[in-house]
Amino acid sequence: MNIIYCDSLIIGGGIAGLRAAMAAADKGNSTIVLSLCPVRRSHSAAAQGGMQASLANPIMGKGDNEDVHFADTVKGSDWGCDQKVARMYCQVAPKAVRELASFGVPWTRITKGERTVVINAQKTKIVERDETHGLINSRNFGGTKKWRTCFSADVTGHVILYGVANECAKRHVDVRDRKEAIALIHKNNRCYGAIVRDLIDGSISAYVARGTLIATGGYGRIYKHTTNAVNCEGTGAAIALETGVAQLGNMEAVQFHPTPIVPSGILLTEGCRGDGGILRDVDGYRFMPDYEPEKKELASRDVVSRRIMEHIRNGKGVKSPYGEHVWLDISILGREHIEKNLRDVQDICKTFNGIDPADEGPKGWAPVLPMQHYSMGGIRVKPTGESQKLSGLFSCGEAACWDLHGFNRLGGNSCGETAVSGMIVGNYFADYCKSHELDIETELIKKFVEKEEKYIDEILAKDGKYNVYEIKNKMKEIMWEHVAIFRTGEGLQKAVDELEKLLNECKNIKVENKEKFGNPELEDAYRTPKMIKIALCVAYGALLRKESRGAHYREDFPKRDDANWLKRTLAEWHEGDTLPTIIYEDLDIMQMEMPPAFRGYGAKGNTIENPKSEIRQKEVDEIREKMQSENKSRYEIQDALMHYELQPEYKKPNQRVGVGDE
Ligand SMILES: Cc1cc2nc3c(=O)[nH]c(=O)nc-3n(C[C@H](O)[C@H](O)[C@H](O)COP(=O)(O)OP(=O)(O)OC[C@H]3O[C@@H](n4cnc5c(N)ncnc54)[C@H](O)[C@@H]3O)c2cc1C
Repeated sequence: MNIIYCDSLIIGGGIAGLRAAMAAADKGNSTIVLSLCPVRRSHSAAAQGGMQASLANPIMGKGDNEDVHFADTVKGSDWGCDQKVARMYCQVAPKAVRELASFGVPWTRITKGERTVVINAQKTKIVERDETHGLINSRNFGGTKKWRTCFSADVTGHVILYGVANECAKRHVDVRDRKEAIALIHKNNRCYGAIVRDLIDGSISAYVARGTLIATGGYGRIYKHTTNAVNCEGTGAAIALETGVAQLGNMEAVQFHPTPIVPSGILLTEGCRGDGGILRDVDGYRFMPDYEPEKKELASRDVVSRRIMEHIRNGKGVKSPYGEHVWLDISILGREHIEKNLRDVQDICKTFNGIDPADEGPKGWAPVLPMQHYSMGGIRVKPTGESQKLSGLFSCGEAACWDLHGFNRLGGNSCGETAVSGMIVGNYFADYCKSHELDIETELIKKFVEKEEKYIDEILAKDGKYNVYEIKNKMKEIMWEHVAIFRTGEGLQKAVDELEKLLNECKNIKVENKEKFGNPELEDAYRTPKMIKIALCVAYGALLRKESRGAHYREDFPKRDDANWLKRTLAEWHEGDTLPTIIYEDLDIMQMEMPPAFRGYGAKGNTIENPKSEIRQKEVDEIREKMQSENKSRYEIQDALMHYELQPEYKKPNQRVGVGDE
């Protein structure tokens, strides 16, 4: 039996996992990172648009700070997020951008003087201040009040991922790819590492650690249409779920992005609309201002996705061999802008669709349609990133439900979360690994290894009647048909029943390729039941949640229900069950810095109010007024409204040009 020991085991080598690995190594922990693919190929590399941080450098970001970023994030989440976590994040994001600059990330910079930008389809001149010349620039993104999304042309995720990967190499972090975690080792509600299958030689080993951190990204591939890379299958969340101890949070909270290109599903970044691109229908008409007069194309993603589908339902979609779609027009930004700031988008349009989006008029319009994009749900953790129930198990990045995003995450807040949670959670994790001994018997480790070896042998030996690819494709179809943008009780019930059936069919499969090594069919055979369990958590959570909040839209319950549903869904899976056990965690309005209200976009008057919202709002207003009259700083006022814990080096104020660290 092969046992590998280390202090800190990190499963997943995207931005979140690698940044957390740096934190673990910096505190002297021996650190191993596992990944399905070479880490620089992780899905983080695909992020084009950028990362939100309130630097307030560009003129359109002047006046920005943590408070404004916090308000945008909470509204975006439709009040589903943990506001303390949102505060932690907004406070550290500017430090993360600056830290990444020190790793060599080539952020796009400001040039002083006049420049032309497109705002609301109009060419407009803005003048950048002399004192900001050479500082980090930001673009309009995510429907935020101020321009705060820092970017590196349209390859932001790529350059951040390379930056943190290089830093891991400097710290001699032991990065091992083509290694898949297939189960967690645990005893008495404590996690001691993972059982890992080598994807090349098929061997199974135990990686035993003082602490284990899962940063395996999202679960988008349970859907037929998604912008996610092929390895975003949610197996990291599934192995946590299969412990029967760790819980998943808000799995039904799935984001659909308005502008993936049809039919490949490759994303055309929200930077296209942020920089001034517009949506057009079959008649070439710009329809978003009719639905969303204030934010137009830049309302939150859940809202824009629904409006596009609504417009198509109203008969205004463009017919194509791949179904109906609408157009994204960025030609109005001008060729020069596109070739400088959106060159990856241009490349995608040319390579996959044979169109040049810089060409003026309909020739340059790109066919787009909303598709699955981001997983707000994930492994439920405390603000420190540790599982609420399985001690020693941490999670960060898209794999986690930390919960920064609630029911809709803002564009640019995810790249940000990966880096920021890698810093904050990575440090709490490093401290845990330093202070906890490894008290686990070899006999028990052996049992976990043998269980997985037996499971793989059984799969290879089975002579059942089902093909695993057929099962997997059916799951994706069901999720797309019944658990996507518009949901109904009837459709969701159907999805749950059919998924349960598919889970049972997994016990009766036949794998044609009998090799133990280098066998993709075998990989699909053991991953698919894990994916169906994740799909069931999404579908069942969505069925039980009888309201509409953020990206979770129930046609039979179209209102956000703050009176009954201001709570987070928690899913557990008990061995032998065919459905998750669902319980709820209440969100306490009286502890919120920003009590529930209107988001500022989407349908008005669409909320079932909770009487506590008004009471708390009054309380907040009174505290704020009183403290302002006493000349208290915004930090003191914030602390009085909702205290949050954060490592002291991260809680320090952020400096901004022209205002210092007020
Ligand atoms: C096309 C696209 C564009 C985006 N653009 C933006 C943007 O502009 N701004 C923004 O804020 N957000 C953006 N996002 C979202 C953001 O990029 C992701 O949420 C984020 O990069 C996820 O990073 P991560 O480190 O959590 O996971 P990932 O980068 O997905 O990394 C997951 C890692 O886990 C490994 N792994 C998975 N399962 C296992 C297992 N069982 N065992 C071992 N290893 C495993 C993988 O090999 C990989 O190394 C975009 C997302 C997409 C899909």
